[in-house]
Amino acid sequence: MARRDKQQQQQQQQQAHFLIVTYPAQGHVTPARHLARRFVRGGALATVCVPVSAFRKMFPTGEVGVEEEVERGGVGYAAYSDGYDGGFDRAVDDHTRYMAQVRTVGSRTLAGVLRRLRDGGRPVTCAVYTLLLPWVADVARENDVVATAVFWIQPVTALAAYYHYFRGHREAVVAAAASRDPCAEVHLPGLPPLRVRDLPSFLAITSDDDPFAFVLPEFSGLINLLDRRGGDSGEPPTYVLANTFDAMEGDSLASLRPHIEVVAVGPVLSFLHDADETKSVSSPNDLFDHDSVSYLDWLDTKPDWSVVYISFGSSSVMSKKQVAEIAAAMAEAKKPFLWVIRKDNHNDEEDAAAVKKLVAAAAMDGAGGMAVEWCDQPRVLSHPSVGCFVTHCGWNSTLESVACGVPVVAAPQYSDQGTNAWLVERMGVGVRAAVRGQDGVLEAEELRRCVDAVMSEATAARAAAWKDEAAAAVADGGGSERSLNEFVRRISTTTD
Ligand code: UDP
Repeated sequence: MARRDKQQQQQQQQQAHFLIVTYPAQGHVTPARHLARRFVRGGALATVCVPVSAFRKMFPTGEVGVEEEVERGGVGYAAYSDGYDGGFDRAVDDHTRYMAQVRTVGSRTLAGVLRRLRDGGRPVTCAVYTLLLPWVADVARENDVVATAVFWIQPVTALAAYYHYFRGHREAVVAAAASRDPCAEVHLPGLPPLRVRDLPSFLAITSDDDPFAFVLPEFSGLINLLDRRGGDSGEPPTYVLANTFDAMEGDSLASLRPHIEVVAVGPVLSFLHDADETKSVSSPNDLFDHDSVSYLDWLDTKPDWSVVYISFGSSSVMSKKQVAEIAAAMAEAKKPFLWVIRKDNHNDEEDAAAVKKLVAAAAMDGAGGMAVEWCDQPRVLSHPSVGCFVTHCGWNSTLESVACGVPVVAAPQYSDQGTNAWLVERMGVGVRAAVRGQDGVLEAEELRRCVDAVMSEATAARAAAWKDEAAAAVADGGGSERSLNEFVRRISTTTD
């Protein structure tokens, strides 16, 4: 692009200010921060807006009040209240009540943030929100922010499954789920056959007593909002920025495009643009404290492609039985391991001590290993010693492993994780481990089998090829990069 054109484009985009609103969950905040940085890199302004409970964890020093904006690395951060400023406690709080509260309290307090940004000379031009916060669009419009977009932080195959479920294929899904066979197949338009276990788990909920029964009505509302066929209101469409790329989910994107204004912009991962990102000190401002243990130095001492990295993300809890099975597998596999066991995985001190003992024994009987409470996952996955990722298959973890070329053992638990595991297998970069019992425990022998299967030259070669595909999608001229630039340009010109 000629320099003058580029300058002109940047000036135009300077006018765009994206406010990205999220839930207080790491799996939402992390991709929101990556997207914000991507907007800023393209010359726009971006502010990430998180609930007060998350803001306090991200900026705990007390120097920033929740009524102020703070800036880090060119990105603004602001807080809104979801009505749970002390945090949501899974042990006592109720999801359905949370959804009602966040809508009521969030609508009021987000309006305050929008006014504050406008009065401060940084009016928002586009409100972006992660899953299931559709009220953000209403608040935005009431405050003269015309453009809105959903940042879809799950695979677009999951969105396609939700779409087709609510558009004529509910019966087929319900019948397959009712068969109680996780391998029963479902045929949805434009998608390859999916087994029940490959679909978002919420689609298989049939009882109103299920703690996640509140989810489907929420998705139904979202699909109504996104479906262009319903949109004769004359209002601009709600864009969906999907954190995926064409080579990975081309069929699902094609199956949605006639119905939804979906734009593939992923993988949205800052380290793909800024190599220093994986070399600099741990990424700050997570919702968890980074472990001070020098796990990166420890990784440095290990041969290339030798280490098994194990993490089940930011919210899944590993049962005691699961911890024991993983420890037994690592003792026998004779491969060094780095294992994330979050503090909130333990009930009490006694529990923590028992887990510590299991990890130490596995490290001693096997080829060495360590546990950390929280690490800088992209830096771990980028480390040459890491040869395999045992993951619950959250979408962020899945994208990070693909972008780093690390083979995967998938141990999905719920929501979109089964769909992500299906994608991993389809791409040939990993295997889905079989689980046993009602509580879905991954047993030692099966884990060992899977680790051996994916730490092979063939899987490593496929993972390396997908790493290149991911990098190409977001490089200058790549499909996702062009689509995101075009989206920013469209927002900039519609709000001129
Ligand atoms: N993560 C991290 N350090 C850890 C464990 C996880 O930085 O020790 C990050 C990981 O890189 C990912 C996010 O936490 O970006 C987890 O999101 P994901 O969608 O994989 O799972 P969720 O936590 O939402 O279940």
